[in-house]
Amino acid sequence: MNIVVLTGAGISAESGLGTFRDVDGLWTKYDLNDVATPEGFARNPELVQDFYNRRRANARRAKPNAAHEALARLEAADGVSLSLVTQNVDDLHEQAGSCNVIHMHGQLARALCGACAHRWDAGEMMAVSDPCPACGRPATRPDVVWFGEMPYHMDRIFALLLAADLFVSIGTSGSVYPAAGFVAEARCSGVETLELNLEPSENHHVFDGGRYGPASEVVPLWVADVLGGAG
Ligand SMILES: [Zn+2]
Repeated sequence: MNIVVLTGAGISAESGLGTFRDVDGLWTKYDLNDVATPEGFARNPELVQDFYNRRRANARRAKPNAAHEALARLEAADGVSLSLVTQNVDDLHEQAGSCNVIHMHGQLARALCGACAHRWDAGEMMAVSDPCPACGRPATRPDVVWFGEMPYHMDRIFALLLAADLFVSIGTSGSVYPAAGFVAEARCSGVETLELNLEPSENHHVFDGGRYGPASEVVPLWVADVLGGAG
């Protein structure tokens, strides 16, 4: 079976990593327009670097939960081809043992040169003045996709969706494009669609099915069902 899974903030929340929709935590101390847009970075790059340095420190303390671990088991199973697409910039899927992870919104642990587009592994702390290892210019930014920027790997993701038997959205609002477009594309191509979420998303009616509850509970149960059926 050929499965495409999309994961969002809901799968990392139980590992202690907040999102900008949370009512408390790191995101409440910053304005989204200041720290998650190209315009905000142009206005105050030091503030943006400070925000991502803090997020990187938080992410390094986080550990994968039962949902990440279940998806790693699914990837390793016989008879299953799993493509794991994530909106998350943490590395909890990799920590859990997943190998083929497509980070459509980039990664906290990576740096991007604003001058030449070279990418490299970031240190714990990053500053705009850090020289690019390729071109030497001081134009370092986090390799994360901000609001108003094009997500990464979109052609590859849509090609994977067209070839899938099943598309599963886990822990995403489902209503934000382009992720919302994935379920529409899958449906139009006759791919079965399933939503796993804390509660039905705004978009839940477009899925063929849904299972609701904490990711650390519903994802392992779903994976057990798939593996039971495949075996
Ligand atoms: Zn460069």
